[in-house]
Amino acid sequence: MKRLIVAAALAALTLGVAQAQQPNTIEAHIAAAKAAAGFDFTGTLARICIAPQTAPGADVTPPPPPARATWYTEPAKVFDNLYFVGTKFHSSWALTGSEGIILIDTLYDYASEEAIVGGLKKLGLDPASVKYVIISHAHGDHVGGAKLMQDRGSRIVMGGPDWEAIEKSVNQFPAGKPKRDIVAIDGERITLGENAVTLVLTPGHTPGTVSMIFQVKDNGAPLTVAYSGGTAFNFVNDVPHFDTYISSQRKMAAAAATAGATVLMSNHSEFDNAVTKVRLVAARRTGEPHPFEIGREAVGRYFKVMEECAAAARLRLQS
Ligand SMILES: [Zn+2]
Repeated sequence: MKRLIVAAALAALTLGVAQAQQPNTIEAHIAAAKAAAGFDFTGTLARICIAPQTAPGADVTPPPPPARATWYTEPAKVFDNLYFVGTKFHSSWALTGSEGIILIDTLYDYASEEAIVGGLKKLGLDPASVKYVIISHAHGDHVGGAKLMQDRGSRIVMGGPDWEAIEKSVNQFPAGKPKRDIVAIDGERITLGENAVTLVLTPGHTPGTVSMIFQVKDNGAPLTVAYSGGTAFNFVNDVPHFDTYISSQRKMAAAAATAGATVLMSNHSEFDNAVTKVRLVAARRTGEPHPFEIGREAVGRYFKVMEECAAAARLRLQS
């Protein structure tokens, strides 16, 4: 037994030394990202470490909506006070409380009416009680329903540079743009009744990307969620942009650790397996852990995947 403990301690020491001496090469960063991803975050690893790097999309009119069957999925209660009203690919979350709902992200415009407004109704919630809508960033797959919710009376919270991007866009909002409302401030808490969402500005994916920390309840027990606001590398691919992205992931990892986050969420199912986990919640038996609760260590590894893939991508620019 003693020998085993010594061997484990030596292995840990060796690992520590290996990490400290990790060379600054593309291969080493990808290996570190793979190790951090494990089997938990394969989607994120594949998208930003394996798939080719990309550039910003052009300011063009969106294509016609895809068939409903390709994106529609049933809304669902996931925690005592958090409901999924997203699609098969993108997430929209309703945080409910005594004073109303804080909605996080709004999908593509074609999905927002049925998935969000219709989804809330289907779950017995009142769409008119959505007081705040927080948009992680102003790409079409998350900001699409912002105008709809603003027209229905919700206040819209978004990063300043992303409000500017909407204002500058010529072609991306053929059905109209949401009007500038609340500009997200770093560390600000959007509070409504007993709920509070802390905004963590994490520029990188877009200049105004907002990540979040908030609490949910699971059978009465509070759990802290770290919500990652933007992931893929479809921004201007140069060293300063990757440096910004990397420092934002470190910042969010620290914020998540300080808050004791044990739940990781993103705005694409590709990254956090939201749709699969929503199904697992429905199949959960009494006493089983919540499918979204992965623990502090795993939440930390998520942001490590993002950081290491970005470090590899940054080096690729110079190779
Ligand atoms: Zn995006």
